[in-house]
Amino acid sequence: MLDVKNCKKCGKIFNYTGDTPICQNCKAADDADFKRVKEYLYDHSGASIFQVSKELEISVQRIKAYLREGRLEIVGDDGNMILECERCGKSIKSGRFCAECSKNVVSDIKSAVNKMSGSLTKENDTTAKRGSGMKYLHKDDK
Ligand SMILES: [Zn+2]
Ligand SMILES: [Zn+2]
Repeated sequence: MLDVKNCKKCGKIFNYTGDTPICQNCKAADDADFKRVKEYLYDHSGASIFQVSKELEISVQRIKAYLREGRLEIVGDDGNMILECERCGKSIKSGRFCAECSKNVVSDIKSAVNKMSGSLTKENDTTAKRGSGMKYLHKDDK
């Protein structure tokens, strides 16, 4: 069974095999880049993400995507500043948040939900008040 798709990256038509939505060429290039980043980090374990990007001519977003996908993990000691926690900016090895923040993110979501339900009831009050005000404005406009 053949399934033909347009490559998400280069737009070329290719035989879709059911895994990645990119063509063989782009997949090979992506894998090659990934390998280069990995090898570079083995040799330069203190390298920053910007250094890697500059040296290998791979975009910072791309390298970060490898890290966030968990495909790449920073090796060596915590001298590596390649990825920052999205919340506090602390350097982390993989994922999106540091250990502390991933704990806090959960409680953040909870309090955000609490706040939301709190403001929802408040909003209902103001909408009710605004409703009568709007009538007034309408009259004034005409
Ligand atoms: Zn392609
Ligand atoms: Zn953090």
